[in-house]
Amino acid sequence: MNTAEELVLLSRDLGREDRQLAILGEGNTAADLGDGTFLVKASGTSLGTLGPGDLSRVSHAAVDGLLGRANPTEREIEDGLAACLADPAHKKPSVETFLHSLCLREPGVSWSGHTHTTSVLSILASSRGAEPFLRHVFPDAIVVCGRQLLCIPYLNPGFELALAVREGLAKFRAAHGKPPKVILMENHGPVALGASAREVLNILLMLDKWARVLVGTFAAGGPNFLSEEDAAKIDNRLDEAYRRKMIEARA
Ligand SMILES: [Zn+2]
Repeated sequence: MNTAEELVLLSRDLGREDRQLAILGEGNTAADLGDGTFLVKASGTSLGTLGPGDLSRVSHAAVDGLLGRANPTEREIEDGLAACLADPAHKKPSVETFLHSLCLREPGVSWSGHTHTTSVLSILASSRGAEPFLRHVFPDAIVVCGRQLLCIPYLNPGFELALAVREGLAKFRAAHGKPPKVILMENHGPVALGASAREVLNILLMLDKWARVLVGTFAAGGPNFLSEEDAAKIDNRLDEAYRRKMIEARA
């Protein structure tokens, strides 16, 4: 299966009606092609019914050029996005093209997926915002979604949001030495950053479970968070397994 075929399958998986991760035109997906370009869902298409003709190939360098402009107008962003196409015959790329371009250039990340997951949004759109996700309530969420998540307050989707994400990703990497697996955008939804299509799907499914568990705990007297010590133990074990794998790969 090539990258485009895999991206179509990932998109349809994320857009499955029974999963409540995204409905109608919500959400978008992207995959890096390793040649300075990437594939991203085209504007005005739906994840659940995405076809091969609904992917746009975009240049990272062109996205950077657009992101470097000071206070562009809506019109300039719209036209600029169309001009970022590496394949001019393709449809205009999603408004979240900026966001995906930034995620795909983080170390070890080749796939990204953004949804408006009902359960996650129930918390991100509440008065608590992303705060309940700052600590963990069960081990598997640490394993799949990472111990720390990048949280971004609500911003206008597209250009403005991307500037905040760019700054957030740089700060996160400086603080933790690796990119996040999850970005939580308040009053909006999550983004998953993965090494494979499977990892992006797994992260978003686990995050959905985590959010549903959290909502359940609030109904049952409030979450009993894992201690920082216990969370660190699981996280360190993962780091150790990762280091071992790297050493084995080098041997
Ligand atoms: Zn969105």
